[in-house]
Amino acid sequence: MTRDELIKLLEEIGAIRQGHFELSSGRHSGTYIQCALVLQYPNHAEELGRAIAEQVRDLEVSCVVSPALGGLIIGQEVARALGVRAIFVERDRSGQMTMRRGFELKPGERVLVVEDVWTTGGSTRETIGVVEQASGLVVAAGAIIDRSGGRLELNVPARALLELDVPSYEPDDCPLCRGGSIAMRPGSRFARAGS
Ligand code: ZN
Repeated sequence: MTRDELIKLLEEIGAIRQGHFELSSGRHSGTYIQCALVLQYPNHAEELGRAIAEQVRDLEVSCVVSPALGGLIIGQEVARALGVRAIFVERDRSGQMTMRRGFELKPGERVLVVEDVWTTGGSTRETIGVVEQASGLVVAAGAIIDRSGGRLELNVPARALLELDVPSYEPDDCPLCRGGSIAMRPGSRFARAGS
């Protein structure tokens, strides 16, 4: 899949939308990204998973680890394409990312961390920390979209299928607001459903 084909697919499905949005962070942006909308189609999820897997084919990964919830489906599909297992980490009640449910890594086990979207990469960074605590070795990180605009800071090789520079603004410094339009909150129902 080329970059243009991927953008076309994401826009057709509505996983990338242009307009004026209030993000869950409270910031405003002209672009809204919701990967769950493309991942609801198993055939697309499988294809995206294969594409991420192709980028790490030679790294001898034996386990994919994803942060819940956003990373679950794509992590599963990357693992399927690589023929390895997929596990996940999740936040406990204090908000700390942890590995639960009896998931374990072998000492030095080669891990790929997979997430749907990198905004700051915070969840992936936390996931890397949990994997290292569990004595795994993170050899790379992958995502469908990197929307950090090149500001991603991970201490492992990282590559997304699609890199987007998506500006966002504080509400009182938003050029779209100044232009007279009102920000929509497209993510709120997803946030409620997901929490
Ligand atoms: Zn605005």
